[in-house]
Amino acid sequence: MSSRDTSRLVVELMRRGATLLSESCPTCGGVMLRYRGVTFCPRCSGFTSVEEVESTLVAPGDLLENLEKVLYEGLRDDLRSLTGAKGHEERGALLRSLKEELEVLEIVLRLKELRSKSEG
Ligand SMILES: [Zn+2]
Repeated sequence: MSSRDTSRLVVELMRRGATLLSESCPTCGGVMLRYRGVTFCPRCSGFTSVEEVESTLVAPGDLLENLEKVLYEGLRDDLRSLTGAKGHEERGALLRSLKEELEVLEIVLRLKELRSKSEG
């Protein structure tokens, strides 16, 4: 990718809210960007389009959303199994699993709340 393409990508990303960092890339000495919570060098990363950047970088916020979704799915599965569970042992294992999922879910929800507060 030519340096002109890189500049164009940088401009486009900044228009979408990316910030230019004061430190330069340790590899090429070029500008470093921070976009959706992720720091990277537009030149060394080899990205050619904003779409490519967006599909590759997963911001911390998206991670929480994904984790929350997975946890809810796990909870639903465990609940369904619990209804048909026979015996103490099976029920105990399911309840432990439910408890763990709820504990992580609680943390996820707390982090999301913190994030929404920091975003104002
Ligand atoms: Zn670089």
